[in-house]
Amino acid sequence: MLTDEYVKRVYAKVEERDGDQPEFLQAVREVFETIQPVFKDHPEYEASGVLERLVEPERLVKFRVAWVDDAGKVQVNRGYRVQFNSAIGPYKGGLRFHPTVNEGVIKFLGFEQIFKNSLTGLPMGGGKGGSDFDPKGKSDAEVMRFCQSFMTELYRHIGQFTDVPAGDINVGAREVGYLFGQYKRLANQFTGVLTGKGLEFGGSLARTEATGYGLCYYTQEALRVLRNDSFAGKTVVVSGSGNVAIFAIEKAQQLGAKVVTCSDSNGYVYDPSGIDLDVVKDIKLGHRGRIAEYAERVDGAEYHEGCRGVWTVPCDIALPCATQNEIDVEGARALVKNGCTVVCEGANMPSTPEAIEVYQKNGVLYGPAKAANAGGVAVSGLEMSQNSYRLSWSFEETDERLKGIMDNIVAESLAAAKQYGDEGNLMEGANIAGFLKVANAMVAEGI
Ligand code: GLU
Repeated sequence: MLTDEYVKRVYAKVEERDGDQPEFLQAVREVFETIQPVFKDHPEYEASGVLERLVEPERLVKFRVAWVDDAGKVQVNRGYRVQFNSAIGPYKGGLRFHPTVNEGVIKFLGFEQIFKNSLTGLPMGGGKGGSDFDPKGKSDAEVMRFCQSFMTELYRHIGQFTDVPAGDINVGAREVGYLFGQYKRLANQFTGVLTGKGLEFGGSLARTEATGYGLCYYTQEALRVLRNDSFAGKTVVVSGSGNVAIFAIEKAQQLGAKVVTCSDSNGYVYDPSGIDLDVVKDIKLGHRGRIAEYAERVDGAEYHEGCRGVWTVPCDIALPCATQNEIDVEGARALVKNGCTVVCEGANMPSTPEAIEVYQKNGVLYGPAKAANAGGVAVSGLEMSQNSYRLSWSFEETDERLKGIMDNIVAESLAAAKQYGDEGNLMEGANIAGFLKVANAMVAEGI
């Protein structure tokens, strides 16, 4: 509920201006609902128009991406980059290539990124970008030509000290490589302008694993502090089978859990004896196949059409790692009914507001995306540091730093929740802790 007059007034304005962007409104409302208690201690925020400024991107670039397909036909997609907030560092955030991408989706992702990046403790502002381009079924040459055309426009807006993109859904090592190559050709500069680069040209060890591993470090630490518990012996349901899901499964298994599901946009697999990750890696990383293939290859595994059914599988811990709003109120109710007591989010905003209400009412330990999945951008920040130093750290050193950052996010969130909100509420804590740093910088830097 919005109760604070200042917060209500600014939200009404966002609704009026951006009423046609449901995902963006959803992200703003969640943050606004939880940060209300800080305003009585900080009259300077209203005086400095912090909220009014926070909800309006500093810059939003929208551009045409024309490319030629393998049949020689011209195709045109839309490209976006939102440079949302640079109060604490250069804009930082991934690029998503997916048919569902539009201005509102990019704005919700960019808005979330502001607080997520702040929580990492590294100097990174919030940004995001992408295109409605669908790489599914495209040849490697088509993906390359698309990436080159995308960067031909984007390159003038980014730079190592300005805005540093990376990957998100459907943008992995291959796409970052093509994007980086084109940036270099156009700018004639070899800099850390993108993160998630190949190891041969400035990438960081542990970046590929970072979001999934970070999600498990965060969950393990929250379990330890709040419940004196751990992953050991737990049954875990994971959705998705991309980069985040794969390395979340890997780390959860290393920490002693049994992961019984994974999914793609067509359906999910249930493997009661525990997911064989080598098979998933071979399908998804090896030949970009569909997850249905898993059930054909592994005895005792079942494939079910429809990805949302995954939330009906009994578990102790759920790690949604697919996409926004993948858990609605029914999904949340099914999870709780079947014994799930922990939901930590690897995807961005995977739970609807009604689903979150179900978690809160039922005492579910809920780790919100902007905290729980911050490991990816955290190691991107470490990649930027290594590029500046012109050196590279070992896997162990980077992984150790990632773990330290995730433990710290849990601690800072709990401290902020204790000071301003409900003790133990990781969502309130993450929003408040992420916001305070950005708000203070915005006030200090003037209007
Ligand atoms: N796309 C990732 C996220 O949602 C990573 C962004 C980055 O590394 O810049 O945080």
